[in-house]
Amino acid sequence: MSALIKEVLKWVKSRPVTIEYPKEETEVEPGFRGRHYADLSKCVGCSLCAIDCPARAIAMEKVPPEYEVPKKNPRRLYPVVNYFKCVFCYRCVAVCPVNAYVTTNEYRLATDSAVNSRQLSLNTVPKAGGGGSGR
Ligand code: SF4
Ligand code: SF4
Repeated sequence: MSALIKEVLKWVKSRPVTIEYPKEETEVEPGFRGRHYADLSKCVGCSLCAIDCPARAIAMEKVPPEYEVPKKNPRRLYPVVNYFKCVFCYRCVAVCPVNAYVTTNEYRLATDSAVNSRQLSLNTVPKAGGGGSGR
């Protein structure tokens, strides 16, 4: 058998080298900066993260009245990250004076709804009247 045919047979019998994502999960490097959001039980609404964001990806919004926020956030402001604009530099995480950001290595951001941190953050505080945290 010629060397060429041997080589062809070897590759025909071998498994594909491509990863069949999403059937097969891809590994995430340690320290990978993925989806992040503010924990509203810690956030004081200071806006520093929004001011410092180089991509202008953070909008400060009012917490809807049905959610309870700590007294340390009297203006009831919180940051909403637009993941379409975000460059995942984590500058916001670093500047937050109260370490309010929850960081994850989640990179799967595709969704049929808005791609932002609004609901993830609202889920960190209870609803007024004991309605639970919406999680
Ligand atoms: S990770 Fe960087 S780009 Fe994204 S919201 Fe934070 S500061 Fe802005
Ligand atoms: S810097 Fe921290 S405390 Fe200030 S608005 Fe952003 S998440 Fe909240």
